Amino acid sequence: MNATPNPTAQLKFRDPVLGRELGEKLNSVVAEIGRAPVSVMHVCGSHEQAIARFGLRSTFPKDLDVVMGPGCPVCITDVPEVDEGVALALQGVRVCTYGDMLRVPGTVKSLADVRGDGAQIEVVYGIDQAVALARQTTEEVVFFATGFETTAVATAAALLAGVPKNFSVLSAHKYIPPVMEIVAEMPGSRIEGFLAAGHAAVITGSGVFEEFVKSHRIPVVVAGFEPLDILAALVKLVELVRDGTPEVVNMFPRCVSREGNRVAQEQLWKVFSPMGGRWRGIAHVPNGNLRLKEEWSAFDARRRFTIDVSRLWDYAPPKLLGQCLCGEIMSGSRGPKDCPLFGKECVPENPVGACMVSTEGTCRIWHQYGGHLDLRGVS
Ligand code: SF4
Repeated sequence: MNATPNPTAQLKFRDPVLGRELGEKLNSVVAEIGRAPVSVMHVCGSHEQAIARFGLRSTFPKDLDVVMGPGCPVCITDVPEVDEGVALALQGVRVCTYGDMLRVPGTVKSLADVRGDGAQIEVVYGIDQAVALARQTTEEVVFFATGFETTAVATAAALLAGVPKNFSVLSAHKYIPPVMEIVAEMPGSRIEGFLAAGHAAVITGSGVFEEFVKSHRIPVVVAGFEPLDILAALVKLVELVRDGTPEVVNMFPRCVSREGNRVAQEQLWKVFSPMGGRWRGIAHVPNGNLRLKEEWSAFDARRRFTIDVSRLWDYAPPKLLGQCLCGEIMSGSRGPKDCPLFGKECVPENPVGACMVSTEGTCRIWHQYGGHLDLRGVS
């Protein structure tokens, strides 16, 4: 067996000739729709990253508006959830979480702030590392679990595999399908179609969007993350908009099936229940939060500890947070350039809002790529 990677195969989803053809097709389908703007939303920071990294936005037709929705898991972790992690750390519990979460502002403090004050905050790449850490100590270790169904499955699998008694989970996991309903139903929403995140659909399957399409009559196309994946999925999406045919189309069949990964789904729903809860800056999302089921209460940090957030009120809140537009940006009604703090008071080194913290946050991505994602007219 030849184990040498084939560079040609690696690049086949970045073929510039095919990319140009798809770009032309996209232009012609949007022109056939004959009105402006045609607005579609992707719900994934990795899509925005790929669009920015490969300069795709500058190839989009000027009458096509591709907006990023609430697809950054760090950005939508709600302020009170960050406060809970901060309060636990201040209570002397060792808190483990992903590196992106550290600088997400809470009401008055971030995890990075309290780490600077001496709290024990550990950055981990995943729950397994946090479990390993708990095995090496008798101290209480809490994994502050964030992210969508993709990372929630990992959390569920770790709990099912068995964790030490001094380990628990503070779940801020979110479930994507319900928030699409909220965005679609927002007053004045102009979203005509959704690009769904391929990695989440690997788990849930493309079939999870069928009810949404039926009830909202808005098409959903599942897309991968290479430039040609995104362009091909956009072409399909605007074709569905043009033809007025709301359907679910899977344009990532090399990874996604209609049923998804049944084993992963089973693990997910053995451990978590969907619950209503707030997504930062957006809204209360019915069934949008994933919380540990009653039978896992021994490992649920919310039940194991009395989380006393009152200690946080000794600190003054950050002055500029009230001006942050992350909520409007994540629901697709505003863009980073609408925020007066963008690139001035709010920069990646000194973020005011959560969208400037994570590498999957819209403001951070726009800032990283120069703040001019649409290069038309920029000299
Ligand atoms: Fe919030 Fe900063 Fe983005 Fe403005 S630039 S919306 S303050 S994250």
